[in-house]
Amino acid sequence: MKKLKMLILDLLFPPRCAFCDDVVPIGTALCSECSEHLRGRFAAVKLCPGCAKPAQDCICGSGLCFKGCVTVFEYNKTYSKIFKILKTDAESKISDELALLMAERFAQSDLSKLDFDYITYVPTSEKILKQKGFDHAALLAQKLSALVGIPCCAPPIIRKDDSEIQHKLKGSQRRQNAEKSYRAAKDTAVCGRVLLVDDIITTGATLNICGRLLLSCGAKEVYCITAATTLLSGKKQEI
Ligand SMILES: [Zn+2]
Ligand SMILES: [Zn+2]
Repeated sequence: MKKLKMLILDLLFPPRCAFCDDVVPIGTALCSECSEHLRGRFAAVKLCPGCAKPAQDCICGSGLCFKGCVTVFEYNKTYSKIFKILKTDAESKISDELALLMAERFAQSDLSKLDFDYITYVPTSEKILKQKGFDHAALLAQKLSALVGIPCCAPPIIRKDDSEIQHKLKGSQRRQNAEKSYRAAKDTAVCGRVLLVDDIITTGATLNICGRLLLSCGAKEVYCITAATTLLSGKKQEI
């Protein structure tokens, strides 16, 4: 019944590309041109295998606990619309589109040569989950899991309800805030090699604290994958 309602809504209000707003086929959220555009953003750039940033932005010296990271395109004002839809509209197919781009990038990277035991994600807080009704990183992780054939598990990590929103903070504040925003859930454990999913990597602080918590809960190695990365050294720099 819900599917029929969705189909009628799609016919009455055809889905639109999350980036350029053109009408797109039902079941999609990016037009083929925009999808190709995002896929090719880093085609000519060598990204650091440790942190998924160009050499001038490398954050590996900040003591990252994860062993590698891959990403698809850069996060900036132009692309922020895509993430706004991802974070606010659970019915949008944008999570499918981003998961597909991430799965392709995963398959092209050295990470695909490793055996992963689990995919998990950076969790949102219970409070935000109740307000929004969904966790966008969980959606990305579940859809990526189905595409790459690695089981997805809920993270043994809790995001505290009173934690500040990370993107509103700057450099060192982000690190301090990330440290106090997450804690390990009681009586939970993970094992083996884990792929940690988030939508965007900026300073790496959130992925780093969540990675550390995964390691403290029994993971042997943590690698990360995100849809986008923020370019730190030159926000106006064109690639
Ligand atoms: Zn488009
Ligand atoms: Zn690096």
